[in-house]
Amino acid sequence: MIVIAIDALEYDLVEEFGFKNLKQASYGKTDISEFEEPRTMVLWSSFMTGENKEKEILSKGKKEMWNTKIPLEDTFFSEFNNPKVIDLPGFSYERKQHEKERKLMKEFFSTDDPKKKQEIKKEYKEHAFKHHRKLKKEYEKVLDEDHDFLLFYISIADVLGHLMFGNKTLIKTIYRDMDETVEEAQKNDEKVLVLSDHGMELIGEKYGDHSDHGFWSYSQECSLDKPRITDFADFISKKSK
Ligand SMILES: [Zn+2]
Repeated sequence: MIVIAIDALEYDLVEEFGFKNLKQASYGKTDISEFEEPRTMVLWSSFMTGENKEKEILSKGKKEMWNTKIPLEDTFFSEFNNPKVIDLPGFSYERKQHEKERKLMKEFFSTDDPKKKQEIKKEYKEHAFKHHRKLKKEYEKVLDEDHDFLLFYISIADVLGHLMFGNKTLIKTIYRDMDETVEEAQKNDEKVLVLSDHGMELIGEKYGDHSDHGFWSYSQECSLDKPRITDFADFISKKSK
């Protein structure tokens, strides 16, 4: 099984752009209404454990929650012999990379100087793309290795979406790139799950914030209707047997 875990992949945009690899054989929205807010760390932690982890993650505090590292044995990944999980929040997340993203975003919103904003945005964009290219290379390498479970977490739609969701050309380029990533997964495995934590909606004309539903798709016909993010631990375990 290969899971392409895409932060902030928006159901409505997948529909609008019509990328067929992202949609796969079955697809839909996920129901995240049990959560107070669509928070990345909360949602991925709940996904890998199959339990609502909102209270537990929030009790760590806003800053400390990003250091969450859930032990392998508490996740469904441990049911596999040789799982590989790339950059997933709460598990194998590259803390420094994502810390810098949050720092630059904060700087961007705390200045009114348009020139400064432009500079920060440029650095932010380069930082995100560099990380994305690096991980994509790793993913391509890992596809050739012998893993019975592979998860590739992609953050770029969320990271760039927050500052540039109004730039549809850019967002479409990113969705196309992810569509190709899924196509590659389908060539390597007949069981491919695409999953987002939450989607994204436009705030004003430029910016983006988390929307109140996620996206899922599966490479085969299946009976998931509007699953919760905590339903996938079981789903993946059953499909992998
Ligand atoms: Zn976000």
